[in-house]
Amino acid sequence: MQTTSNPRYRGRFAPSPTGPLHLGSLIAALASYLDARHNGGSWLVRMEDLDPPREVPGSARLILNSLQNHGLQWDGEVLHQSRRGAAYAAALAKLAAGGHLFDCDCTRAQIGPEGSCRGDCRERQARLRAPTATRVAVPPECHIRFRDRALGWSDTALGRDLPDFVVKRKDGLDAYQLAVVVDDAFQGITDIVRGSDLLDSTARQIFLQQLLAYPTPRYRHIPLITDAAGDKFSKQTHAPALDDCSACANLRAALAFLRQPQPPTDLGSTGQILAFATRHWAPGNTPAVLSMPATSKPD
Ligand SMILES: [Zn+2]
Repeated sequence: MQTTSNPRYRGRFAPSPTGPLHLGSLIAALASYLDARHNGGSWLVRMEDLDPPREVPGSARLILNSLQNHGLQWDGEVLHQSRRGAAYAAALAKLAAGGHLFDCDCTRAQIGPEGSCRGDCRERQARLRAPTATRVAVPPECHIRFRDRALGWSDTALGRDLPDFVVKRKDGLDAYQLAVVVDDAFQGITDIVRGSDLLDSTARQIFLQQLLAYPTPRYRHIPLITDAAGDKFSKQTHAPALDDCSACANLRAALAFLRQPQPPTDLGSTGQILAFATRHWAPGNTPAVLSMPATSKPD
């Protein structure tokens, strides 16, 4: 096991407890783990259990067991978003004090593409019908530019394409974007390695980091694994749960997807495989693409 000697690197894996670990989530966990350990950094786990209606009971425990059965041991305590309501409320109060928030009573039918407010809610603040969602106001000309460690420069016309997003939901639940930003800052995360399905969220999260005067971590977005038809490999598409009894084979499959050197076949434990993979971690080998199929082989 690597020692965590580099205080300038803090990575994390942040699953939602909506089902057991599948190959797609193992790939994301492994990439963030290897990047942290290769750099001598710490690796934290945060359970994104903000949305009780979407939760599958017992899956938080299953995911943590699965990580441990694959040798992916995290540092410190698991942070549970369900216990962080006070921190999110404090961040909302800070945004409200800065005049960045407005309430919105748009119905599902009124909401525009990308979930924007298309009514005249900002003008009707005193006359909205409950229940309301709280949105952060994005100036129309706002662009978010950041350099992804895999994909290079990214420039999102946030004000045009992803305006005025929700930071507190109509059902009273804290919104994902705000919670992630508050928790990344709280946990001192310096490096985020995650699937490219979260690329649009990154621009929104950087915008919130700037409003809240938080540091912006470095980002690396890895390709999403798709099935042969090109569909995302996920709980929604019924990706099979990983069999923890095949942990070594699962790690080897995840390394192959990330185009990492295969550990010699005589390495038969998860600890040996992870030690090899950590030493040889070469993130530049992973194609800089948004998605690729599980079955494709390196050239
Ligand atoms: Zn609205």
